[in-house]
Amino acid sequence: MVIRLLTPDWGRVDLVAKGAYRPQSRLFATLDWFHTLEVDFRPHAQGLAPLRQADWEQRRPRIPLDRERYRAGLSMLELGEAAARVQHAEPELFAWVEAGLQALETSELSPLLELVRFELGFLDWLGIAPALESCATCGSPAPSRSAVSPTVSSKESSTAGGMRVPFSAGSGGRLCASCAQAARQAGMRVGTMPESVLDAAAQIPNRSPELLALSPPPPELLHRVLDLLGRFLDFHLESRLRSQRRFLAGANRNAPDRGPAPSLAPLPHRS
Ligand SMILES: [Zn+2]
Repeated sequence: MVIRLLTPDWGRVDLVAKGAYRPQSRLFATLDWFHTLEVDFRPHAQGLAPLRQADWEQRRPRIPLDRERYRAGLSMLELGEAAARVQHAEPELFAWVEAGLQALETSELSPLLELVRFELGFLDWLGIAPALESCATCGSPAPSRSAVSPTVSSKESSTAGGMRVPFSAGSGGRLCASCAQAARQAGMRVGTMPESVLDAAAQIPNRSPELLALSPPPPELLHRVLDLLGRFLDFHLESRLRSQRRFLAGANRNAPDRGPAPSLAPLPHRS
């Protein structure tokens, strides 16, 4: 059996694990998704090197027990696989994927929310995070309506359900009205996104796990953020990850005919 590992020192590594399915094998039951392993192999071997020894360094047995957690874990692994280079040191990528899996194993937050946190940080780390708060092209504020007066606070506009803003994956995310018009004239595809979905994606990474546990975002909002991130990733990877195919097979959850999206709860007031 050929196994694929993500390693800090050698990036993506394929190895042959002989007889790993035999109950008497030392590798039996050790090689499974989601665990961190201590492995022994020769990195510069010609062709596929044998895996000589593997032991658990950190087991994560909770992830496969629940379907949503399992799917989130597969998505994290697959994103790590897509980003990892072969035989290149990837210590940051390894640490990021490992931390994501560990959060999935131990966190009190829902698997959906952990996946949203992972994907947002991952896009940021890759340098392809979508512009969520200001215009991707000119950097100026990109209000949901050109008529919105500059005195309207961001809090008021984020609680107004149903507001939509121009958005273009090819232009890098949210757009102001004039950049959206210029992009359309240049032949780019420009759609619209619910402002509350962009706001949630912008604000979730700034909220502590404790705060998110106290007022968890509604699942529909998380599905919509994941839909946005999944389609944005499609555009940048120029292919669809296996783990995303089912989730993204249906109609766009953020299309105008899906109605207004829920909002992230405002931060509690401190007196
Ligand atoms: Zn602009």
